[in-house]
Amino acid sequence: MPSSPDVKSFAAQGAGLAGYVEKTFHPEDEILADIRKRAATAGLPAIHVSPFDGRLLEVIARAARAKKIVEIGTLAGLSGVCLARALPEGGVLHTFEFEKKHAEVARESFRKGNLENRVKIHIGPAMQNLSAIEAEGPFDLVFIDADKENYPNYLAWAARHLRPAGVVLCDNAFAWGLVAVADDAAELKQGHHAAARKAILATNAAIADQKGPWRGMMLPTGEGLVMGVRK
Ligand code: SAM
Repeated sequence: MPSSPDVKSFAAQGAGLAGYVEKTFHPEDEILADIRKRAATAGLPAIHVSPFDGRLLEVIARAARAKKIVEIGTLAGLSGVCLARALPEGGVLHTFEFEKKHAEVARESFRKGNLENRVKIHIGPAMQNLSAIEAEGPFDLVFIDADKENYPNYLAWAARHLRPAGVVLCDNAFAWGLVAVADDAAELKQGHHAAARKAILATNAAIADQKGPWRGMMLPTGEGLVMGVRK
């Protein structure tokens, strides 16, 4: 069964490239490392974004001058801290999490990162809870990193609620390598990744569609981070 790599890096492997980037950019500080530790102690799954992706999220949010950010899939708040660090004074991150236990760990992460006054955590199924913030839109950036089957629905929501030149980012866009295998490949017959792959393929295709609302590209991170800019 395919799974996320233990050590997530860039798609470009070999020649010590990941080590070089690590040493040069130092993408993870003590606050972020502490989130991974506390999440593990609390029994949360280690499915946070990689250190490289976290920094990338912050840099993209800064480049977009994002003041209103939406994140779908909080977990322990690691990517949320990265995104919230990009916010100017008065900015807000709305982050959506299904599991109350994850949200509690995340709340402590935002507190320890001195970011609690700019982050609002919404607990429950994101597809139902997103409507609660629509009046605050349009938003500047939407980061999608939760239940894969809903990615096309989250993307459609982002298309309706991002400003022109707003940014959408979806993680796991390589579907653990499954985007590149044939529809009848043996690994898809075993089950639960098939539906996720189908939704991720549809999401990538919608962002790539020249006639759609996006101008997009795949960022070749370890897991694939697809990025679209609202036309
Ligand atoms: N973005 C996080 C980070 O890198 O720090 C990781 C998010 S993790 C991959 C996915 C999270 O989405 C999990 O915490 C899971 O409980 C949550 N989730 C799953 N289905 C959801 C739903 N329908 N609505 C909101 N959150 C959901």
